[in-house]
Amino acid sequence: MIDIINIRKYFPILNATVYGNPLIYLDNAATTQKPECVIQTIDELYRTGNANIHRGVHFLSEQCTEKYEQAREKIRQFINAEKTSEIIFTSGTTGSINTVASSFGERFVSAGDEIIVSEMEHHSNIVPWQLLCERKGATVKIIPFDDKGVLRIDLLDALISERTKIIAVTHASNVLGTINPVKEIIAKAHLHNIPVLVDGAQAVPHGIVDVSDLDCDFYTFSGHKIYAPTGIGILYGKEKLLEQMPPYQGGGDMISTVTFDKTTYAQLPLKFEAGTLNFIDAIALGAAIDYVNNIGRQNIIEYENKLLDYATQKMSSVEGLKIYGEANDKVAIVSFLLKDIHHLDTGMILDKKGIAVRTGTLCTEPLLAHFDKTGMVRASFAFYNTFDEIDILCENLEKILLMFK
Ligand code: PMP
Repeated sequence: MIDIINIRKYFPILNATVYGNPLIYLDNAATTQKPECVIQTIDELYRTGNANIHRGVHFLSEQCTEKYEQAREKIRQFINAEKTSEIIFTSGTTGSINTVASSFGERFVSAGDEIIVSEMEHHSNIVPWQLLCERKGATVKIIPFDDKGVLRIDLLDALISERTKIIAVTHASNVLGTINPVKEIIAKAHLHNIPVLVDGAQAVPHGIVDVSDLDCDFYTFSGHKIYAPTGIGILYGKEKLLEQMPPYQGGGDMISTVTFDKTTYAQLPLKFEAGTLNFIDAIALGAAIDYVNNIGRQNIIEYENKLLDYATQKMSSVEGLKIYGEANDKVAIVSFLLKDIHHLDTGMILDKKGIAVRTGTLCTEPLLAHFDKTGMVRASFAFYNTFDEIDILCENLEKILLMFK
């Protein structure tokens, strides 16, 4: 059960007012708000615990190193990876995907090769592959989706060729909400020995990831979308692949020994953690994971599904409102347009009522092009949102319709 009153008290910002209205924060797919335990972890570390990790023999350095490595172990358990050596701290999903595109690409991709992504990817899971293809003379191929926002995996077999080097696909769409059948995609890819990267930015916060069960080769997500700070994220990679890949960046911490003749690299995961990592926020990510575990992932899934069903049903009954993304299996994201009212107008009027939604391209221009749109409005939910907030959203959508009549 979700104890909504106490949960909301635990997120200080949810008490804020915007233009004199109580804040209704429905932009969780862009970033989530932070619970007390995350704020306190950062505050306490900077007040009493801060020292650079992995380098010092002194007390604070050792203590910080231990907490950092404990956070890594918490994340390993959270996504059910086999080994901590497979958990790499990065700056976020974008950092993780760029690491793989660059390092895996350097080792395994050459001219004439192919990379498959889907039509519903965030720009973060398109552009790094395009950059790689430009460097190497490779090409990107696309798995399309249908008008309900369901991936056409029936077309995947025809897209796969002996030149396919990797498939990169999102676990859940940040616009359509669709939860993709990534396990099935991975199984198909593995029949051809093709590795799969799963972009989990929108799946992890909703409690649905087990990398061992999926058998994915890479999995990426961002801390800030799962109640942790910005600037920290995770790259999970299978050890046997990470070991064959060159370091992404050079610098401190990622080396074993350095001479001007020859430098050798550190063991995993440090081989991919050059320089001073964002260790304070990595520890705070561990605190966020503890918090989510305490709430209970099953509770989160059940509550958010109820919010999604309620929002879908209520919003559908607003005259002229069209929802984009009607898959059966969705995370709590509802993207929509109100008749021919511009998405920015809808967003700005809602803002004046204290309702924060996202508008614009949502970093998915190819997805929008599918629907021949240049922007949408997106309401995205977290377990601290309420049914009342959905009612207020819908009341205001009705008012906007009247204003534009
Ligand atoms: N992939 C998806 C599906 C996303 O929703 C986002 C963030 N909106 C990203 C990747 C990029 O995440 P970040 O900006 O935290 O690196």
